[in-house]
Amino acid sequence: MEKFIGKSVYGAVAIGKISVFKKRDADVKRVHIDDIDAEKRRFEEAKAASIEQLGEIYEKALKEVGEANAAIFEIHQMMLDDDDYNDSINNIIESQSVNAEYAVAVTADNFAEMFSNMDDAYMKARAADVRDISNRIIDNLSGEGAKTGSSGEKVIICAYDLAPSETVSLDKETVLAFVTAHGSSNSHTAILARNMNIPAVIGVGDEFLAKIKDGDEAIVDGFTGEIFVDPDEETRARLSKKQAEDEAKKSLLQQLKGKENVTLDGRKINIYANIGSVDNIGAVLLNDAGGIGLFRSEFLYLESSDYPTEEEQFAAYKKVLESMAGKKVIIRTLDIGADKQVDYFNLKKEENPALGYRAIRICLTRPEIFKTQLRALYRASFYGNLGIMFPMITSVSELTKILDICNEVKAELKEQGVEFSENVELGIMIETPAAAIISDKLAQMVDFFSVGTNDLTQYTLACDRQNPDIEQFVDTHHEAVLELIRMSADNAHKHGKWIGICGELAADTSLTETFLRMGIDELSVSPTFVLKVRDTVRNIDLSK
Ligand code: PEP
Ligand code: MG
Repeated sequence: MEKFIGKSVYGAVAIGKISVFKKRDADVKRVHIDDIDAEKRRFEEAKAASIEQLGEIYEKALKEVGEANAAIFEIHQMMLDDDDYNDSINNIIESQSVNAEYAVAVTADNFAEMFSNMDDAYMKARAADVRDISNRIIDNLSGEGAKTGSSGEKVIICAYDLAPSETVSLDKETVLAFVTAHGSSNSHTAILARNMNIPAVIGVGDEFLAKIKDGDEAIVDGFTGEIFVDPDEETRARLSKKQAEDEAKKSLLQQLKGKENVTLDGRKINIYANIGSVDNIGAVLLNDAGGIGLFRSEFLYLESSDYPTEEEQFAAYKKVLESMAGKKVIIRTLDIGADKQVDYFNLKKEENPALGYRAIRICLTRPEIFKTQLRALYRASFYGNLGIMFPMITSVSELTKILDICNEVKAELKEQGVEFSENVELGIMIETPAAAIISDKLAQMVDFFSVGTNDLTQYTLACDRQNPDIEQFVDTHHEAVLELIRMSADNAHKHGKWIGICGELAADTSLTETFLRMGIDELSVSPTFVLKVRDTVRNIDLSK
């Protein structure tokens, strides 16, 4: 038995035979041509065929992995029509009197190198996309057509790397797992693999490929990133058991993927996911959440040894927005303080930190930190469907200041000619009793509310959420908390605004019906609860 380790992209176990995925022969010959116009026409025809094939792949992906993930193939279609890309190919054909295959290959190398040299991790990953579309054109030029992948027995596909279109084109029915020697967890291939529910491990290294061959027995543990080639009996027994347990758990809920969040009598709501890091996006997509209802941006500050720069923040927010491909992404501004301490903020020790200098209070007294985050957020808004949400609101005057600062930031960006979306929704968390009680006024100032039941419960019941000794006094279904939520929902709707819940209570399915009867429009829960809440919603009848 030999063991290899890579980076897990999707947690599941696969047991079977290895099939080494062979790429198209990448060698493109440089051939002198006399009829330049005919060569340009060959290129145009191959490009048109490629666009058509990508349309078919898009439709297949739409069914298998949903709209957000299929979007990459629409982007590939657009890349094929990109003026710079096309000009480069036509110029090379014309100026060097060479064949279209060669012009495409050179352009692909140049563009891929340009992307690889960019600082932004997302843009770096686009190098694989430009190679992917170019290889497709070359295949069409040489009459090889599109690859459709393996057939027959179910196998563990092992490759140097896989392009997004290769991943989707593989017949899912015959793929047990993906293992690649290279690849990044940001790549669309990784995202697609996750969403196809196929165990996948990337970055196992070249040594792995050198040692395996078609037909080798292997086990892929997508939870740990381990691959066992020629496994011994003990390993086989242990992982077979792990596989059976995992499959039983998942199969029950996976049936609900792609289904609507609709009650028996037809009321629809949004079920979004809460995340605390860019790395959680895979889980959001895997569990078919309709959007991100709470992105706790603190992680950027907690993981850092100094204030994260505007650029660092912009890159993280942009990545989330792009990965969600037009679905709603609500990013909460900094909520540091209380239990979330960061050394470089130099916060004083407080007697009652939960009632102390935290969240929006820090932002309003240290506007330079707040403005840096808002600039990064607005800049990122250009790349998706952003909502910005402010934590720990207690008064109208606070909110007035916040909205003034947002306007200042937007005016600055406009003056500097920096692009941002004009459609960013602004909302507040209802997580203090004060906010719920004055929600009639607050609702007139924002686009939405999101109830933070974790803090709302602690402040309403005067029970420190960090103190395990008072757990017996924390009645999470306390009528006072529910009444504050109801009051906020009524006031939001009175002013035509929407309201969601993003605290842990949103995933408490014994309250789902109560929330729906209050008119709650969105529930945002940790990704693994999305399908469970969907299941509950689909069994509720509000007409009774
Ligand atoms: C809440 O208070 O319910 C909430 C969602 O915010 P956090 O748990 O991050 O304080
Ligand atoms: Mg909170």
